[in-house]
Amino acid sequence: MLMFLALSAVGHADEELPLLRHILPADTVLVVAPHPDDESLCCGGMIHAAREIGARVAIVWITIGDAFRWSAMLAERKLRPRAGTYRDFATRRAAEARAAANVLGLDPGSLFFLGYPDRGLLPLLLDHYYPNTPWRSKFTGADSVVYESAVDPGAVYDGEDLQRDFERVLDRVRPTLVLAPSPQDTHPDHRGAGLLAWRALGARQELDKLRFWIVHGGRGWPRPRAYRPTLEQTIAPRGLGMRWERLPLDAEAREAKLQAIRAHHSQFAVMGRVMESHVRADELYSRTPIPPRSTCALPEPCEFGDQPVFEEAGF
Ligand SMILES: [Zn+2]
Repeated sequence: MLMFLALSAVGHADEELPLLRHILPADTVLVVAPHPDDESLCCGGMIHAAREIGARVAIVWITIGDAFRWSAMLAERKLRPRAGTYRDFATRRAAEARAAANVLGLDPGSLFFLGYPDRGLLPLLLDHYYPNTPWRSKFTGADSVVYESAVDPGAVYDGEDLQRDFERVLDRVRPTLVLAPSPQDTHPDHRGAGLLAWRALGARQELDKLRFWIVHGGRGWPRPRAYRPTLEQTIAPRGLGMRWERLPLDAEAREAKLQAIRAHHSQFAVMGRVMESHVRADELYSRTPIPPRSTCALPEPCEFGDQPVFEEAGF
């Protein structure tokens, strides 16, 4: 319970942010993770805190991270890994995700893998929504969910099946709080997963349950790129103008978050320092998925180069 008190030994780097609402034992938190490791990077402290007070927590991984080329290259020691290597690699990443969830106090029955294609979520939702145009992963060669441990093995790689499987998890978990990536995150899968959650909760008139997070925040964020667990987290450049709330983490929650991040061995070996820089004295969540229109007069956070700009009222 201590972690819900404001621990402001150091003033917040940006402004005095309001606290996130208290998590209650009756809460059921659903973390929407585009890839294995996102659940720990975004929300490891929250998950630990919620489990400590007896709240239920579930995680849904939209992809199993089966297009992470650096790790697949390392595993096979080839510049162009085979499709089978990516699929084997996904099995390893799913095991790492389960280990991280175990560190954070979750039981295996609360873990859901959808198995949709890494690097494919935005195309599924935009250009490959209907079954007549399934998406094929250039990494694994698959155009349907090939993982037997997934929620719906054999589901086609299109937006319609993705949405149906996601809603199936919502029906099963019945969350009171959903933590999803912001469409402002620079990673296209994160943006796609954020749009998916935003649309699904909106259709259920449950947008008040949604809080958004950012992991890929732009311009070298988080700074410094080092393990600094007593520093308060700064607002990501991509998240300027959004309505952020903070969840202070005590030492125990920060340590659990660090160990959960480290459980993703394949990722930690390649980018451990960046991953550790997400362990801070607090975690930030936004009530709004994207900044208001007024903020978009600035060069950041609303420019995506040739990518579309999403407006608050859109989608
Ligand atoms: Zn990710």
